[in-house]
This record gives sequence, structure tokens and C-alpha cells, in this order.
Amino acid sequence: MKEGVIKFSYDWKKKPLPASLDIGELVKYRNKLRDCTGGIKETKRQMEHGFSLTKKILSQSPQRSQRRDFLGLEIKKGNSELPVYGLIGADENGVGYGNISVRYKSSGQFIISASDTGKIKRAGKYHFTVVNSVDIKKNFVSCAGMKVASSESMTHDIIYNLSSGIKCVIHVHNLRLWKKFLNKVPTTSKTISYGTTEMANDIRRLWVKSGLKEKRILVMAGHEGGLVVFGESIEEAYSLIMEYFNE
Ligand SMILES: [Zn+2]
Repeated sequence: MKEGVIKFSYDWKKKPLPASLDIGELVKYRNKLRDCTGGIKETKRQMEHGFSLTKKILSQSPQRSQRRDFLGLEIKKGNSELPVYGLIGADENGVGYGNISVRYKSSGQFIISASDTGKIKRAGKYHFTVVNSVDIKKNFVSCAGMKVASSESMTHDIIYNLSSGIKCVIHVHNLRLWKKFLNKVPTTSKTISYGTTEMANDIRRLWVKSGLKEKRILVMAGHEGGLVVFGESIEEAYSLIMEYFNE
């Protein structure tokens, strides 16, 4: 599935999250994942890639304000601040990838980073949306926030349905990790597309038969670069992906 494309139908109420709702921790970890690039070797490659991208952007966009908006980065002359590809981020076309959510109130609700926010360097409360319900069979999402919920809300919903103990789900992209752990940790079938009933069944199969319950990480074979981790807290899920990242 192409990243950043919403494939479900939805009922979206455009409104701010409740003022009393504190999602400071969620925002903090989201921004940490955005900052997390691929280690020394990959960083060099990314830096080079980023530099050519920067030059391209500079030559393509005549206005300073546009340059600044692209990828949510401050692009300065020279290479003092280059685009980086975080575990949550945006690809060379500026299309966002990766998302994070926490369970909210009743078991069926969660708060998730909104669609197309991966490119934003410093996200805030504005960039999160409450998903009130998901109907996988009808391919339908009901949400409320300033932006529509992430295009991968279905996948998050499937994970929350596995166990009430799961409080946080993180979906990242990193080609190095994806290649390294493909079929080494629970891995979804290559032929199944995301957010479908088949995917829900496939993840349930992994939960029961492939140790997903204990490992709490899965690789999405049919979604290049895509991995999912989850945990009983944001910190737990974050620490888990960092363990694999630093391995
Ligand atoms: Zn993805």
C-alpha cells in the first residue's frame, strides 16, 4: 500500500482535541521518533541524499517560505540543517510515513498522529486525532481532530483488538531494520494489503502462532520498510523499537 494514502471511508469531525486532554508524552515520543535517523552509516548516505534533495528544493521553490514548509524543516544555505529520514518522517516526495497512537478511554478509542504529518519536524497536539471507532469490514473510520486520522488507523485498531493490555502502537519505516528482521520476527504475509479483514486475521495468526504476543514487534512483508511495535506504555513500545534499532 502506498504510504499516506487514505483507503478507508470516514466520518471526520474537524475540531480541536479537548483542552483538558494532556498528550504531552505522546507528542514527545513522536518527535523523538521523527529525530531518530538510521545510525552512522545510513546517516552519511541520508545526508548525501538529503543534500541533493535540499539543492533540488532550493532550485525548485522560489520563495523562502515554501522552502521552509517543505518537510517541515528549516532549510538554510549550505548544509547546516538537512532533511533527515526518521523512523517517522517523509520520503523524497514529501509524503509522510510512520505513526504513533495510544489507547484512549473506552477500549475501542485511540489517539493517533494525523494523516500526512510525518513531514512535520516538531508535531504538537494539533497534529493528533481521536479515533472513536473503526469498522474493518466496512472499511470505515470515525474520528475527531483538526486533521483526519492516519491512513494506517486500521492497522492500529487491529493491534488494540488483540489485547486490552496494549496501550501504545508505533508504526515506523526503516529499510535497514525491515531487511534485517524480515521473517526473523513475526512477519505478515506479503500478499495481504493493510487495513483489511485479511490483515486482521493474519496479525491474529501471528499473535497465536508466531510469538507476537511475547515479541511485540512485527514486520510488514507487503509494505516495504514498515514495522510495528506495541507495548503497555508509550515508553515500553518506544524502548522496544530502539532495542532493535540499536542492535
Ligand atoms: Zn507505513
